[in-house]
Order: sequence, then C-alpha cells, then structure tokens
Amino acid sequence: MSRPKVLLERTSTIGFIGLGAMGNHMLNNLICRSPFKRFAVFDINDATVNGVIARHKSENPSAQILKCASPADVATKASYIMSMVPTSKHVQEVYTGRNSVLTALQNLDAESRSHTLCLDQSTIEQSVSKAVALEMRKVGANMMDAPVSGGVVGAEKGTLAIMVGGDEQSFERALPVLSSMARKVTHCGDLGTGLAAKISNNLLLGITMLGLSEATLLGTTLGVKPQVLADIINNSTGECWSSKVNHPDPEVKVGDALPPAHRNYAGGFVTKLAHKDLGLAVSAAKDAKVPLELGKRCEEVYRALANSQEWGGRDFSGVLQALKDTTALKASL
Ligand code: NAD
Repeated sequence: MSRPKVLLERTSTIGFIGLGAMGNHMLNNLICRSPFKRFAVFDINDATVNGVIARHKSENPSAQILKCASPADVATKASYIMSMVPTSKHVQEVYTGRNSVLTALQNLDAESRSHTLCLDQSTIEQSVSKAVALEMRKVGANMMDAPVSGGVVGAEKGTLAIMVGGDEQSFERALPVLSSMARKVTHCGDLGTGLAAKISNNLLLGITMLGLSEATLLGTTLGVKPQVLADIINNSTGECWSSKVNHPDPEVKVGDALPPAHRNYAGGFVTKLAHKDLGLAVSAAKDAKVPLELGKRCEEVYRALANSQEWGGRDFSGVLQALKDTTALKASL
C-alpha cells in the first residue's frame, strides 16, 4: 500500500527550532548542502524567522521554508527535528512544555512517531538532555544530543565539530544531515556523551586560556617581550589552541589570522558563553563526584568576568587584560 502524501512529506522535511547566532547559519547550510528541500522552522522571535524566510526566498528559491507557530507545529510537519536554543530551560520548553514536540507526538500515529528523530544541538546540562530524550523515547520517537564546537564562524562556514550521543542506528540516520554543517561528526557513545565531550573540551579550553594568560603576564612582567614568549611557548610544551590560534595578547601575532585580541576582544567566543560551559562542567563534576580543582577556580574567575559589563560580551581571551588590571590595581595599593 502506498504511504499517504502527508507522511511522505513529513519524512522528507527537516524541522529547525532556534534561529539565533548559530542556528540561522546551521539552517543555511542544511538548505544549501543537505539533500533536503523542505524545512519547517520556529523561533520565539518572530522577526528572526521572517528575516530567515525573506533571505532564502531570494537566495534559495527552490527551498520550501514553512513558518511554524510552535515546536508542536514543527513536529507535525517534520520527522527530523533539530534545535539550537540557549539553555536547558529552553530545551525543556521546546520538547516537553506547552505546544511542544511531545504534544505533537502524542497526537501522531505510531509510524510517524517512530520516524521522528530529534537532534538537540544546544549546550545544556547532560542530566536534562538525557531526561528529555527518555521522554521522547517513551512515545516511540528518538533523540540524540549533538552539541557543536567551532563558534559562529564554524556555523557559518559549515565547519563545525559535532559530538553526538545516542544509539548507533539513529547516528547513521543523522549523519548525512549533520555532515552538511560540519567538518567532523563523531559518535561519542550513548545518550549524553556528546554533551560530556563538549563540556570536557570547553573545561580544558577555559583552563588553557587562563593558564596562558597567567604565563604571559608573569613572563612579560619578568621582562620577556610578549612576541618572544609566545614564539617560545608555540615551539615548546606549553603550546595549545589558545597560544596558536586565539592568543590573548594584542601585541602577539601568530600566523596571518588576527584573533579577537587584535580588535579589542570583539566577537569570538564570548565570555558569557565560555563561563556557561565552565559552569556546566563544574556542576556535572559535582554530581559525578569528580574533583575539579583547576576547573572550579577557572569557573570563579570567568564568573566575575561574565557578570561584568566590560567583559561579558567580549571574547574570553580578554581574561589577560582583566588579570593585568587586577595586577595594576594591586601594585598601586
Ligand atoms: P542565540 O541566543 O543567538 O540564539 C538562540 C535562539 O533560540 C534565539 O533566536 C531565541 O529567540 C531562540 N529561542 C529561545 N528560546 C526558544 C524557544 N523556547 N523556542 C524557540 N526558540 C527559542 O544563541 P546561540 O549563540 O545561537 O547559541 C545557541 C546554543 O548553542 C547555546 O546552547 C550555546 O551555548 C551553543 N553554542 C554557541 C556557540 C556560539 O559561539 N554562539 C558555540 C557553540 C555552542
């Protein structure tokens, strides 16, 4: 028996919820690079959705983009549902709140539910992500955590690294979709392991940036020129991504690219988000009884910066300047 048209349309539609700094670029890459031509989109910010639809009407007229009234509306129209929203609270709203994905699934037939694959790409608490995924499984749908690394530039260029947690079969199904926005897609293991990998990486990133900033401050205070010290670190055992790609000192040049330190720390990986990820790591470590001596201290340092007017919205490498300011303040006392 042939399948009803509405079911066929749903299985060939991607839903996308959360079209902010990351999501709008990720959707763009899905539109331009994935085999899909039909998209159902939703964001609580109506102007954002209108902007995305207007852009693709002129740039990608062959793509059909449906504006949805709620996450439930998205789930009714699409069997792949992707989300990129700020925090755990927003993920719960989207998947299990009022007019959520769950509301729609409860009203769909068993076959449609079993075709549904949700891919949440937000960086949130692992425990919340797992709980939401289990709710989806209870009604016969599937869900994976698929957080990303690479920032807004990676999202725009389609060069994200995506870390995926969930079952093998769902991963194989998600791979062609995720590949259209990524340089590398890795299956990390069961539910929650994508987020575990993401927050572990960002814990190390925060620690190495803070460590490099302290080393730079110490070395330069003791008389080494910033560029000389940076070159030594980059040819020695202290080398890391922060020293090679995102050096925090505006007096240092590494390669051709100019990191945020060269534009007064504008853009980049903003301190608020860096701190959010450190907070997730510290809280997960507390639950798992893993001691994070450096991580806890690093979270405290970044918490103060994230809450400050001056640094919250600027690149997290600004921690070097904040350390310099503290040093200058102490020296003047
Ligand atoms: P953003 O604030 O720019 O965008 C989030 C979007 O979600 C907004 O458009 C907002 O209106 C929408 N939204 C919020 N609640 C919603 C809801 N209930 N239903 C529908 N839409 C809703 O944030 P972003 O920078 O795109 O980040 C999204 C996620 O990606 C976060 O978890 C962040 O930690 C993670 N992330 C961000 C970066 C980055 O560099 N910006 C890098 C890696 C990961």
